[in-house]
Amino acid sequence: MKVRYPRFLRIFYSLNRYFLQCYTGYDSKGKGCSQVRLVPKKGIFQPPVSAMDSRIKSVYESVIARDPNQSEFHQAVEEVLDSLSPVIKEYPEYMPVIEAMVEAERIIQFRVPWYDDDGNLKVNRGFRIQMSSSIGPYKGGLRFHPSVNQSILKFLAFEQVFKNSLTGLPMGGGKGGSDFNPKGKSDSEVMRFCQSFMMELWRHIGADLDVPAGDIGVGGREIGYMFGMYKKLANEFTGVLTGKGRSYGGSLIRPEATGYGLVYFAREMLATTGRSFKGATVSISGSGNVAQFACEKVLDLGGKPVTMSDSSGWIHDPSGIDREKLDWIMDLKNNRRGRISEYANNFDGVEFNASEPEPTPNGLWGVNVDVALPCATQNELNESEAEMLVANEVIAVAEGANMPCTPEAVEVFLKNGILFAPGKASNAGGVATSGLEMSQNSLRLSWTREEVDSRLDAIMVDIHKNAYETAERFGMPGNYVAGANIAGFLKVAEAMTSQGMI
Ligand code: NAP
Repeated sequence: MKVRYPRFLRIFYSLNRYFLQCYTGYDSKGKGCSQVRLVPKKGIFQPPVSAMDSRIKSVYESVIARDPNQSEFHQAVEEVLDSLSPVIKEYPEYMPVIEAMVEAERIIQFRVPWYDDDGNLKVNRGFRIQMSSSIGPYKGGLRFHPSVNQSILKFLAFEQVFKNSLTGLPMGGGKGGSDFNPKGKSDSEVMRFCQSFMMELWRHIGADLDVPAGDIGVGGREIGYMFGMYKKLANEFTGVLTGKGRSYGGSLIRPEATGYGLVYFAREMLATTGRSFKGATVSISGSGNVAQFACEKVLDLGGKPVTMSDSSGWIHDPSGIDREKLDWIMDLKNNRRGRISEYANNFDGVEFNASEPEPTPNGLWGVNVDVALPCATQNELNESEAEMLVANEVIAVAEGANMPCTPEAVEVFLKNGILFAPGKASNAGGVATSGLEMSQNSLRLSWTREEVDSRLDAIMVDIHKNAYETAERFGMPGNYVAGANIAGFLKVAEAMTSQGMI
């Protein structure tokens, strides 16, 4: 039974959830200002982000005019440009960099013909977006999913430029893939597709030129088939792909890296408010590579994951997904290639909810948790779903997937003082460990699990610190979106300017 307190006590308690904070920085028109505000204690104060500088706005408008049908790319560009007005005030010489970096250095599109098991010819489309090589060889994953098109890959490649810059490692940004759907295909069909894909891609990549990795639909199996074909065509054994198997140059911890790194970043973010994962309930979406290892690390740090999903629906296990259940999910997804609904049939007290078509909100985000980790795909968490999380007093949201939260959802989190980590910072552990795999390949060395994990942890601590301090320096304390965008941008901008903007 709920106790009803007298009105004056209720007012006192609700006021006690907030504190007054002073802010000096930019107002919504980009002018300097001071404010005093009532802010929720559970998070940190998110001051208004300055309005977009008119020159930056015209760059954004030209991006839309050039490719009017690429909505995902527009979204990713807008999110970054939105943060850059204070930077241009301080570094007006970087304005040309902004104009140049929204255009890919090179886009490759090609035909991928392959034969299915019945001897029928199938034709897919392959892509590689070489977005930026300013600070190192192009680096970024390959995605095999029916939704893949130029807009999605350009958004991913654009994000990758800033993410790779944040890792502190010398890696440019790229992304690629195909509209091929590996789901329901036999191993030999997947192999024939991968070989045909590489028959074209191999001439555009190389250990010092462009180093692809996995992403949605591309795991160890696909990387193995592609590496084999590259080696045959190029007649050389180099670290041209990352995410390789252990027996042929792969790094320990690379499969775990994105999920582990995400939780390391979220741990740092929670620590800024004196909190930790210990005893925290956590919702996770997806049940692929990132979701599985995020779940594992949450368990390591004493948290309690209670949800997971796939494209068919989501499960809620109020008693928690423990190690034994997680092993079962890993076997289901990585070996038996089954659906998450089977979890509910196998364990007691679990509810399965089938996915419903938009605009029905995804109930996964209505589960009452302390931390939410969206780890499935882009735009999977919208404004109303963000409001459900806020209503349940979520403390932190950290993106494991790339751009899983819509801009409106991000706005809800920032306005409500929720700790929010953008994917380009919080999921950078995967590519950072790919960078470590490249180093090991060049050195012809293989580091231990502990060594790679501790380097990964240190990189995530640094990324957090960099994003946190940069946000503070540019007058937006606690705004990791702005901090990550600006910190990632500054390094690339300096390199581009030094190299003569070619
Ligand atoms: P994955 O192993 O293929 O897993 C993807 C998961 O998301 C699966 O459970 C999948 O369910 C689910 N999913 C995909 N599309 C969905 C949709 N439209 N609705 C609902 N669920 C959907 O891929 P991953 O490597 O974990 O990547 C997940 C996200 O993390 C992506 O945004 C990726 O770009 C990002 N990321 C990955 C890495 C990495 O190292 N792997 C690094 C950085 C960022 P189904 O199986 O039913 O499709």
